Parts: sequence; C-alpha cells; structure tokens
Amino acid sequence: MGEVYKKERIREEIIIPPYEGRSARLNKGEELIIIDMEGKQVGDFVCFSYEDSSEHVSPVHMRASLSSIRLKIGDYLYSNKRRPLMQLVEDTVGKHDFFFPACDYYRYKVDFGKEDHPNCHDNLESALQIFQIHPPVIPDPINLFMNNVLDDMGDYVISEPLSKPGDYVRLKALCDVVIACTTCSQDMAPVNGFSVTPIKMQIVEEN
Ligand SMILES: [Zn+2]
Repeated sequence: MGEVYKKERIREEIIIPPYEGRSARLNKGEELIIIDMEGKQVGDFVCFSYEDSSEHVSPVHMRASLSSIRLKIGDYLYSNKRRPLMQLVEDTVGKHDFFFPACDYYRYKVDFGKEDHPNCHDNLESALQIFQIHPPVIPDPINLFMNNVLDDMGDYVISEPLSKPGDYVRLKALCDVVIACTTCSQDMAPVNGFSVTPIKMQIVEEN
C-alpha cells in the first residue's frame, strides 16, 4: 500500500569480471546501477563529459564543493570544472571513498614487489579506449564500497568493505557521460576482503 510501482527499462547490463574494467556511455537522465554481486568488492569509478573529455569527475573538487569526505545520497559528483556530471540517488551501503588513488603498477611493485599484478589504473585506461578517451593522466577515482576508517587524529585505516552481496549504488547522469569502473585488483590487503569478485552495472533508461 502506498508504494508507487515504477516501471524501468534496463537497456544495457555489463558484468565486470574480477581484475578487469569496463566502460559505458550514459545519456542525460539515464541512471547507472553498480551492484557489488558477492559483497566486499571495491569498484574504482571515473566519469567524463561525453562532449568534452577534458572535463571529468574530480574527487579533489568534490571534497571542496561538498565540504566533506563522505559521499551521501543526493550528493553531486562535481567535475574539474566545478559542474555536477552525476548525482548519487540511491545507496544501500553508505560507505565509500573519494580520497585514495587507484591502485597502479607502482603500488604493487613498490609495496609488494610484484611486477605483473593487474591494477585499476591500467584497467581504467584500457576500458576508456573504447570511447577514444585517452587522458594524459587518469583522474583519481571514486572508490565505491571502499571502507576507510578515519580516526580522531586524521589517520586512516583501510578496512574490509561493509557491502553485502547485492548491495548497490545508483547514479543519475546529469549530462551525457562516459563512465568506467573496475573490480579493484587488490588481493593482498583488506580493501576487497582479500578476494576480487565481479561487479554488475545496469543502465536504466529515463522514464
Ligand atoms: Zn584497485
């Protein structure tokens, strides 16, 4: 009683396998659901304006515009030109990060002595090539489901994500955008609960 049935059409569904990245285009008004299929899996997420790929979601500008390091329902994802490109409209977890860089070649080489470990930086870079987006520097990501715990001194501890199987976030495109997301490759730290699992993306057409 009282619930309004909202009919939705999913026009595209994309599975991001473990240790990989995928990209997609969203038209203005469409929504993106990013589902942590098995739980405790971080997705590194970047977003570009389709019209001008020099404009992208920028965590440092978000922290300034939101006056916060906590991402909340209703928050805008601001660009490096201080414009909201997307909005967080649903979130079943409530704990994400937009402070840390993507894991990259150097993270695994310098900190773990691994030369050939998959990483989010390279996975974002290759996922974006499909849309001819070749930024000189891959923007810092929003690390969906990443659980950084900040103490009173301002120090961080990275803990396992709070997300359970099927938890999701939902982002609305406020203009035409290209997005990319990874399944974070970190399997030697608590970031993903020590195991890398798939993420599902669904694109919902505007009603
Ligand atoms: Zn990563």
